[in-house]
Amino acid sequence: MSTNLQTPIDYLKGVGPNRAELLRSELGIHTYQDLINLFPNRYLDRTKYYKISDLQRNSADVQITGKITGFKEIAQKRGKRLVGTFEDDTGRMELVWFRGQKWIRDSIKINTPYVIFGKVNWFNGVFSMPHPDMELLSEHEKNLRSSMQSIYPSTEKLSNKGITNRVMTKIIQSLFIETKGRFQETLSESLMSELKLLPKSEALFNIHFPKNQELLAHSEFRLKFEELFYIQLQLILKNLIHKSKIKGFPFESVGHYFNTFYKDHLPFDLTNAQKRVLKEIRQDLGSNAQMNRLLQGDVGSGKTIVAFMSMLMALDNDFQACLMAPTEILSVQHYQGLQELSNKLNISISLLTGSSTTLERRKIHKSLENGELQILIGTHALLEDKVKFKNLGLAIIDEQHRFGVAQRSKLWQKNTSPPHILVMTATPIPRTLAMSVYGDLDISVIDELPPGRQTIKTVHRYDKNRLKVLRFIRDEIDKGRQVYIVYPLIQESETLDYKDLMDGYESIVREFPQPKYQISIVHGKMKPAAKDYEMQRFVKGETQIMVATTVIEVGVNVPNASVMIIESAERFGLSQLHQLRGRVGRGAEQSFCILMTGHKLSQDSKVRLETMTRTSDGFEIAEVDLRLRGPGDIMGTQQSGVLNLKIANIIKDKDILQSARFYAKRILNSDPSLSSAENKVILYTYRQLGKYKNIWNYIS
Ligand code: ADP
Ligand code: MG
Repeated sequence: MSTNLQTPIDYLKGVGPNRAELLRSELGIHTYQDLINLFPNRYLDRTKYYKISDLQRNSADVQITGKITGFKEIAQKRGKRLVGTFEDDTGRMELVWFRGQKWIRDSIKINTPYVIFGKVNWFNGVFSMPHPDMELLSEHEKNLRSSMQSIYPSTEKLSNKGITNRVMTKIIQSLFIETKGRFQETLSESLMSELKLLPKSEALFNIHFPKNQELLAHSEFRLKFEELFYIQLQLILKNLIHKSKIKGFPFESVGHYFNTFYKDHLPFDLTNAQKRVLKEIRQDLGSNAQMNRLLQGDVGSGKTIVAFMSMLMALDNDFQACLMAPTEILSVQHYQGLQELSNKLNISISLLTGSSTTLERRKIHKSLENGELQILIGTHALLEDKVKFKNLGLAIIDEQHRFGVAQRSKLWQKNTSPPHILVMTATPIPRTLAMSVYGDLDISVIDELPPGRQTIKTVHRYDKNRLKVLRFIRDEIDKGRQVYIVYPLIQESETLDYKDLMDGYESIVREFPQPKYQISIVHGKMKPAAKDYEMQRFVKGETQIMVATTVIEVGVNVPNASVMIIESAERFGLSQLHQLRGRVGRGAEQSFCILMTGHKLSQDSKVRLETMTRTSDGFEIAEVDLRLRGPGDIMGTQQSGVLNLKIANIIKDKDILQSARFYAKRILNSDPSLSSAENKVILYTYRQLGKYKNIWNYIS
C-alpha cells in the first residue's frame, strides 16, 4: 500500500500545526497531494558561485562563499535593522535583517565560512543582501544536493514566519521520504512509450529535485502533457455527450429560399472563408445533433451574410429563425439590412426592441406563435417570456461577449427541443485559448476579409498635438468624409466619463461651428429614440462628426466614415480598440485611426498602443491581449480549466497542447468509453477528475 496522499499535511514530519496552518492559508496546501503538486516556479543553478567583486547592481539570486566579520545595529524610523559585514577574498558587502534579529545574532557564527544565497541590492555605494538563505560551508558540502535548486512559490507572510525556500525544500524532501517517492501512474503504457514520457514517479522526483537540465525538461514535458491531456479529454468527452444527448432539428433540405438567394440576390461573391463556414454550418444543421457553433470573424469580415444564409436554411425547412444583437442601434441596422434582402424573397421579418410599441409587440407575439413571422431580429427583448415561437429552428447571437451564459440558455429554453445556436463574435479568441477553453466545441473562423479593403492607417498622438489632429479632421471632412470621436466609458466612474464626453463635445462644437459642420452625439444616458435619431443623421450623412461613447463599438456600419479618433486611448483594452477601429475602413476611401493619449503611459498601455499601430490582424491582437491580461480576464474562460493550470502555460506550451489534444482525440476515437484494458488507467484518472476541483488533486 502506498501512502494515502489525501493525508492532511499536519501529519508530515517537519510540518506541525503552525506550519500546516500557514501552508493552508497562504498556499492552499491541505494534503500531501497538494504539496507534491506545488511545482517550483523556477530553478537556480547552484553549481555557480559568485565573488563579491563580480556582483552587478540587482544581481538576482546569487550564491557567494564568505564570512561574517561583525554585526551592527542601525536605528531606523520604526525599530532597527541588523547589518552583518560579509567578506570574501575579493571584497565586502552587507547582509541585512529587518526581522528575527535576535535569532540571527545567537545562531550565526562569526568568522566562519558560510554559503549565502539571495538577491543583491545596491544601496549607498554598497552591495547588500536582505534576509539571505545561509548555510555553513561545511554543511553545504556535506549535503547531497542536485545542481538545480528549486524555487517554490512563496508569500511574504511565509518567509516572515520562517518558511523559507530552504524549509520548503526540506518539507518536500520529507514527503518523498515518507512516500518512498512512489506515485501511481496516471497515463497508459502505450501513450508513455509512444511519446517516450517519463514515469510519473520519476517526473515528480525530478520536477522537485532535478538531477540535470535534461531530466528536468523531460519531467516538465511529462507533467504538462498530462495536465493538458486530461483537460482535453474532459472537453472532448463533454462535447461528445452533449452531441449524443441533445437532439436538434435536422434541416434536411437546402431549398427554395437558399438557392434563390444564392443564384439571384447575393449582392457580392462570397469569400472562400464565408463559403467554407457556410458549409460547416450546413453540415451541423443537417445532422441530428443540436448545433452549438461559435463563428469568429474579424470586424468587417462579413458575418452578417453568413447569418442570413443560415437563417434561410431554417426557413427552407419550415422553421423560424431569430437574430439577437446586444444594442438597439445594432439590431436596427441588422434589421434594415436583412429586411431589404428578405423582401426580395418575400420573407416576413420583424424587429423587436425595448422601444417597440405595445401594438407592435402584440402583432409580433401573435405572428410568431402562429408561425406567420419567419425571422425576428432584436435585442434582449427577444428573451422576454411573452416571446414564444411556433417553431424556432435557429437562434443567432451577434457579438457574444455582451451576453451572459444564463441569457443564452434562456434562449434555448424557448422550445420543446433546443434550436440550433450560432454565436457570432468579432473578438478573435486565440486558437490556443479556444482549444483549451472549448476543446472540441465547434468553431468556425472567417479568416479572410472581403476583397478591396484597405488597411487602416493607425497612429498614436499625444494630447499636446491636438491642434494638428483637429486640422487633419477638418481636411478629411472637407474631402467629404465622416469622423468618429470616441470617449471611454467605464462603468465605475460613469459620471466622470460623462463629464469628459460633454467637455469633449463642447470643444468639438467650438472647433467645428455650425452651420458648416453638423455634429451627432450618442451616449448611454440618452433615450433610445434620441440615440437612434442621432445615429440615423450620421448614417445618412447629415452630420459629419459622431461624438460617442463606446456604444458604437459593436457592429455599426457607415462606409463613408473614414476617421476614428479614440480619446484617452490608454484607458481602452486591446480588443475594444480593435473593435472601435473596425468601424472605419468599410468604404473605398483610405481610413485612419488616431489614438489620443496623455503623456503618462503605463508599460501595458505602451504595448497596447504599439500593437495597434503595428498590426490590424485581430488574431495577433488577441494573442497580445492574452499575454498582457492572462486568460483569466478574457471572456468565457472564467469557468474553464485554463485558470487552474499548475504547470502548463497555454501560451508557451502551444505545441504540447496540440499534441495532448491529438492524442486525446485519437484515444477517444478508437475507444470512446475508455473501456479497454489499455485505457483503464486513463478512465480511472479521468473519473477522479470529477471528484476534485482540478486535475492535480486526484491520485491516491
Ligand atoms: P461583420 O463580420 O463585422 O459583421 P458585416 O457582415 O457587417 O461584417 O460586413 C461588413 C461589410 O462587408 C458589409 O458592408 C457587407 O455587405 C460587406 N461584405 C460582406 N461580405 C462581403 C463579400 N464577400 N464581398 C464584398 N463585401 C462583403
Ligand atoms: Mg457584425
